[in-house]
Amino acid sequence: MEPSLLQGGTEVVSNALKVSIAIPVYNEESIIEELLRRCLAVLDSLPSGPHEIVLVDDGSSDRTWALISHASALDGRIVGITLSRNFGHQAAIGAALDHTSGDFVVVMDGDLQDPPEAIPDLLAEAQKGFDVVYVVRVGRKENVWLRTCYSLFYRLITLLADLQLPMGAGDFAIMSRRVVDLVRQSPERQRYLRGLRTWYGFQQKGLEIERNARHSGRSKYSLRRLLRLAFDGVFAFSVVPIRLATAFGMLAVSCSVLFAVYSLIVKVFFGKSQSPEGFTALIFAITFLSGVQLLFLGVIGEYIGRIYEEVKQRPHYIVKQVIATRAKHGE
Ligand code: UDP
Ligand code: MG
Repeated sequence: MEPSLLQGGTEVVSNALKVSIAIPVYNEESIIEELLRRCLAVLDSLPSGPHEIVLVDDGSSDRTWALISHASALDGRIVGITLSRNFGHQAAIGAALDHTSGDFVVVMDGDLQDPPEAIPDLLAEAQKGFDVVYVVRVGRKENVWLRTCYSLFYRLITLLADLQLPMGAGDFAIMSRRVVDLVRQSPERQRYLRGLRTWYGFQQKGLEIERNARHSGRSKYSLRRLLRLAFDGVFAFSVVPIRLATAFGMLAVSCSVLFAVYSLIVKVFFGKSQSPEGFTALIFAITFLSGVQLLFLGVIGEYIGRIYEEVKQRPHYIVKQVIATRAKHGE
């Protein structure tokens, strides 16, 4: 038995276990206090410590940052970070992960749809040796239309990408330090955390937990933003759409070649020529093919746009201010 294998397998041996909760928030002034109260209560119930909460204010325009900075000035367990503007949910999660120092990191939404009370269960599973324990939401409280979109999307991505995205799993999960570091080292800009997390492998496990309705405030995800996230998921993990273009192109070329051969045979052996009768078919072919071309120009554009975003190498987010009164040991 190789000793290095053993070392890689056993993660946390010491008793001093630290848990970080990473939470992105955007205009959630009505929830912050309740969120912190419940999270701190959960942290108090965990053994060892000191644990921490890393709250990232994603450029809110309401009192969110005032509340966070106040709380983190008072309580050393709360790290508050504010970004220079709104960078989006996934970037804000990235910012939060970059500021965590725990052995295990919980990623959670700030609207209390993910119950913080599930954290001890997640941690217990993680300590059994799972690097990722994600929450599978049962009993979604969103409307039927959104639920249908979600389930269609999960099916689509499993079909297109070579990635077994667990059905119904969101970003709410606990991750070991090594997975968090892998996420942080993944240079891509358009991160799709639940996809990346799955892609890393290791031991992963799903826990079924009831998802609540939003505590208060309203969802920041419009249909447009949801679609964008879905697109990020598909295009970041699948080259199938771009390969479809090749397949369609080959089909179109084969059809036209066959048609040309057919016309030639008819002309040479039967002396008939193609009459203007086929006019409708012609128009159809032209419009259909231009449609297909435009569609796939869009698909190619989607990939090129993403390549462009990546090569620019801009930072994922810009920090405006950090408030952390925690003791800076071991950093
Ligand atoms: N959020 C964020 N930046 C954004 C949009 C959302 O940090 O640009 C936060 C938001 O405050 C919440 C979490 O991300 O804590 C999930 O957002 P939301 O609840 O609006 O999404 P939904 O649950 O409806 O998918
Ligand atoms: Mg929500």
